[in-house]
This record gives sequence, C-alpha cells and structure tokens, in this order.
Amino acid sequence: MSTLPTADEMLRTLQHAGCRITRQRSAIINHLAGRIDHPSARRIYDSLVEREPGLSLATVYNTLSTLVDNGLVRSLDFDGSDNRYVSNTRPHINLLCTTCGGIIDLDRELPVGTEEVFAATGFETTDCRIEYRGRCARCRANGRT
Ligand SMILES: [Zn+2]
Repeated sequence: MSTLPTADEMLRTLQHAGCRITRQRSAIINHLAGRIDHPSARRIYDSLVEREPGLSLATVYNTLSTLVDNGLVRSLDFDGSDNRYVSNTRPHINLLCTTCGGIIDLDRELPVGTEEVFAATGFETTDCRIEYRGRCARCRANGRT
C-alpha cells in the first residue's frame, strides 16, 4: 500500500503554487515520484541527462528546492555525503546501507506515534527521522561488507 503522491499530483500542486512547469522540471518530478530509494541530486542528474540533454545540475538543485519548499519532497542530509531526496514526506523509517550508501523506505507505523509523544511530553513533533543502519539485501547477497 502506497500513498506517495503521483507525478501528476505533484505537478498540479506546483502549478497551483504558481510555479512554472518546464519540460525539465516535469522530467525530474516524474523521476522522483513513487521512488523509495532517495537519490541525490547528482544521481537524478546522471539518470536524466541523456534524455534531457540541456539539463544542468543547477536546474536539478533548483527544482528540488522548489519541491521541498512546496512540501512535496523531503531533503535528508547525511553526514559527509550529498543530500538525498524522497517524495515520501510522511514520517517513515529509512534503512541506510553502510556498504553501498543506498537508502530505502520502510513504510511502517512509527515505533512511537507523534500523538503519543505529544501526550507524554507536550512535545510537538515537526519532523521525524528514524534510521536503521546496516547492509542491504543486495550487498549481503554479493558478499560485500
Ligand atoms: Zn547496499
């Protein structure tokens, strides 16, 4: 079950916010929508530049920041590496492979819901990151450590 926004929904939200939808922006949005692997801007650029020859890394960063500003994409920073982007803006669990650097989402209820946090402490949660670190199935299968 996935409730990630579709590319169309993301494009519509941007249009409503008065953002210009260029061909390149829409390519980036189509690339990000529904993904759970948290690509970096560089990775997005590398995946798209062949199909979108005029694309620049600056345009990718610019589009990502517009998406983040409009609440459509989350930007996650990790120590010592590029920010990673995901269209899943709900609190979720990140599984970070320390071998290949891959990150995937695990769509499960949070161990402690934000309502429970609030009830127990009066703390109002505005953001939540839960990260499990280890080795992904592919790296394990390839014997990489
Ligand atoms: Zn891995």
